[in-house]
This record gives sequence, C-alpha cells and structure tokens, in this order.
Amino acid sequence: MKTIVWFRKDLRVHDHPALAEAAAEGEVLPVYVLPEKETLSACDWWTRESLAILMDRLEALGSPLKLMEGDPLDVFVRLSAETGAEALYFNGQVDPVSRSEETALLQEGSLNHLRIRRFVPDMMLDPDALLTKSGTPFKVFGAFWKAFQQQTVPWPVPVPESLSPWPEADVESAILKDSRLSSESGWEEKFLRYWSPGENGSFVRWEAFRDNGIQDYKVKRDYPGIDGTSRLSGFLASGNMSIRALWHAVRRAEEEGDVLQPEPFLRQLAWREFAYYQLYHFPSITDESLRPEFRKFPWRSDADGLATWKAGRTGYPLVDAGMRELWETGTMHNRVRMVAASFLIKHLLIDWRTGAEYFKETLADYDIANNTLGWQWVAGSGFDAAPYFRIFNPITQGKKFDAAGTYIRRWVPELASLPDDAIHEPAAADPEVLEEAGVILGSTYPEPIVDHTAARKRALAAYDSIKGQKG
Ligand code: FAD
Repeated sequence: MKTIVWFRKDLRVHDHPALAEAAAEGEVLPVYVLPEKETLSACDWWTRESLAILMDRLEALGSPLKLMEGDPLDVFVRLSAETGAEALYFNGQVDPVSRSEETALLQEGSLNHLRIRRFVPDMMLDPDALLTKSGTPFKVFGAFWKAFQQQTVPWPVPVPESLSPWPEADVESAILKDSRLSSESGWEEKFLRYWSPGENGSFVRWEAFRDNGIQDYKVKRDYPGIDGTSRLSGFLASGNMSIRALWHAVRRAEEEGDVLQPEPFLRQLAWREFAYYQLYHFPSITDESLRPEFRKFPWRSDADGLATWKAGRTGYPLVDAGMRELWETGTMHNRVRMVAASFLIKHLLIDWRTGAEYFKETLADYDIANNTLGWQWVAGSGFDAAPYFRIFNPITQGKKFDAAGTYIRRWVPELASLPDDAIHEPAAADPEVLEEAGVILGSTYPEPIVDHTAARKRALAAYDSIKGQKG
C-alpha cells in the first residue's frame, strides 16, 4: 500500500499510530501542511523547530517529510493525483477546526479512491468510552479522574524500523524557515535560549525531570521561583512527546524505584486529558462560556488596561513578572497563569476570550484544550471551575508563593533591590525603602492601575448582576 501520512500536532515518530500502521503496510509519504497565515504565533516557532528535527528523523528512517502549503483538502486532492497514493492516514485531533478538516477529507468525492483512516488522537483514553453511568460526559474533574483511574492507558506503539518511499512520491517540499519569527517578535532568538523543541529534546527534558524534579513535584509545583515542574508542556502541545508514552514512562520509573508516589504529577496529566475530553465533547467551549449565566456577563472594553496587562506594567509585581516571562520565554508558570488571567478577568473585567486569544498568540506551548480550560476555570465560567467570587489577591499570592521575591526579581528587574517585605506591594512601601532600592513609582515602575479592594468590589457586583440568570 502507498500511504500518505499526514503529520499534525504529533511531530514525532514514537507512538505515532498512523505512521506505524502505514509503515507496516508498505510505502510511506510523510506530509506536513503548513497553514497559510498572515501572522505567525509563538507556537509556530515551536512547530517549525520540531519540523526541522522531524525531517532529519524521517529522512534517516528512509522517507523524508514533505512540507506542503495551503488548505489540507486541496493539498491531498492534488498530492494523491500526482503521486498515485492509495491511502491517507492521520492521527485524529480534538479541536473543532481540525475535526472539520477531517470531516471535509472524509466527505470529499475526489478522494474516494483513497483509503482514509483516522487513528486515535493524542489522548490516553477514548473520550467516547469514558462516560458517566447515565452515558453522558463527565463535567467534574474529581469524578472523571476516578473513572479514569479504573481504565488502562494503552501502550505506545513502536517506532517503525524503516520507511520506504515510492518513486512518484518525490514531490517538491516548501521552505520551512520563516523570517517573520525573528523579525517581528524576536521570538526565534529569545526562545532558543530556553527551549530545544523536538522529540529528542522531549526525552532529555523528561529524563532530567525524572531524575531531579518529579520527586518533589507536589511541594514545589506551586512556586514560580523554583524549577519545580516538568516544563514538558511545549513538547506535549506539539506532540513531540506522546502523552501515552509519558504516562507509561512515569509508571515504569515508579516500578523501577526511581520515582516514589508519582500521583501528583499523573494527576496533572489527567487534567490535560480532561481538557481534551471537554473540548472533544463540548467543542463550543473555545468561544462560549460553559455556564450560561456568563453569556450575559457585563465585560468591560478597556484598551488601555489590556495593553498595560500585555506589557507587564499593571503595578502588580507578580502579574507583571508573569506577563514578561511569557513574552521572553513563551511560557508562564501555572500559578502565575492563574493569577495573571484572574487579574484580567476580575480586576479589569475584560472578557476571558480576549486573554485566551493573547495567550494563543504568545504561548510557545499553546494548546487550545488546556488554554480554554485554564481560562474558563479562572473565569468561573467552566463546568468545574474556581467560583467567580474567589478573587485572587495578586499581592498575597506573591507573598505566599514567591515569598523571597525570587521570581519577581528575575522578571521585573527594576524592583530587584527591594527587600522581601516590600517587593510584592511597592505602592505601599516606605518612601525611604523605595528610594534606597532606586524605585520611583510612576516612573521606573508603575503605580497599580486599579486598586485591589475597589476592583474586587466591582467584580463581585458584576457577578451579582448575572447570578441566577439562565443565559
Ligand atoms: P507540569 O506541572 O509539569 O505538568 C505536566 C503537564 O501536565 C503539562 O505540561 C500539561 O500538559 C499538563 N498540565 C499541567 N497542569 C495543567 C492544567 N492546569 N490544565 C491542563 N493541563 C495541565 N497548558 C498548556 O499546555 N498550554 C496552554 O495553552 C495553557 N494555557 C493555560 C492558560 C491558563 C489561563 C491557565 C491557568 C493554564 C494554562 N495551561 C496551559 C495549563 C498549565 O499552566 C501548563 O500546562 C503548565 O504551566 C505547563 O508547565 P509544565 O509543563 O511545567 O507543567
């Protein structure tokens, strides 16, 4: 069989069901379709770096990756005619755009001669098989996790030993390098300092975390000044690492005695699963608050507030540190993602979708499922979310999770000389302390753009106005 294998957010050769099956059945033409976009986002950088690595890997296995441009449907209609392909295999995706691409392919008459197969998506379990007793999808993580733990995560499929191309498959490949990634945002130069995308990079990162991190994950994961989490999100979002392979690697490390009590980490992997599961069952979640009353929420339009938040100049050090970490590295610590998102939604009353859109542009680990779940969770608009009235105080969050100000000093260097007890709230610091640290409020560092107590009151009043409404 001559099979085109369509790579998507599964940029690897391990545990790639579509590739493994195609390789076992005959010749393989690996293809990636670069979307036609006017602007590139941070995760496009990750994708392109991963593609460069994947190209080498597939070439070494025997069949180089071809890069195509355009709409996947047009690409495959043309490619199948040009190459004489007999089949098209791909791993499914759960996001609505990818799923509609899949449906279009399956319905397209010009592709009738092809055997089209959709393999399992990058999830640990089949989302249609994990349901409540009444046959509906789980809406609450606790119950989902309980049911999840009663199932067995399938073993990853092996890497094909080799791949054979067929002569007509030697079509021209598009160019990978895109100068926009360095010219507009400087992302290329910056991100290379922090990340080594690709399958191999994912193994290196996992092994470092296994040997020096997972053990203390439970106690360290909430402290942004400590390197206490796996930092695997970019690898998982791009599919450089298979979630099933990671799950089994953790279990294996546990069996071999290298890791004791990995549950807190596995539980976070299950949060990712839950995010994918929700997106699969409730595709409108990306654009619509799941709780109907939030559809009437009196969001404010505040261009200045939004710009200040994006620039990391709100006058709240933990929020500012997070937003600057994001712009520099393409990621943000989970605790700070929650605080920064909460600040936008509750202190500024800006629609969570506006924040989610900005994260989509700027996160190198952008993952539509995790990002949507994160924003709806913080907003309180998701099924199993933090209640809206629980409003993070960015100052006390800083004191609690970054007591010595390590994280703030790193990302907001103009505050670095402030003592620990002043760094979280420079606006309340003694003028002499500020002067000694070289901080001039309103000049070297901004005054808070909103007062916390007043903003909290305003947020609660906004919430009161929708409480009990049906949407
Ligand atoms: P670890 O703590 O080491 O966790 C391991 C893996 O588990 C992560 O890589 C991720 O795949 C998964 N995971 C961990 N926490 C969560 C969670 N709360 N929800 C879903 N999956 C989780 N994560 C993304 O991968 N992409 C996003 O676009 C994204 N956007 C977010 C937006 C908001 C507003 C919030 C609050 C969270 C978001 N998250 C997102 C979830 C989380 O912040 C990141 O997964 C985590 O910070 C990545 O760091 P890590 O790999 O070191 O995580």
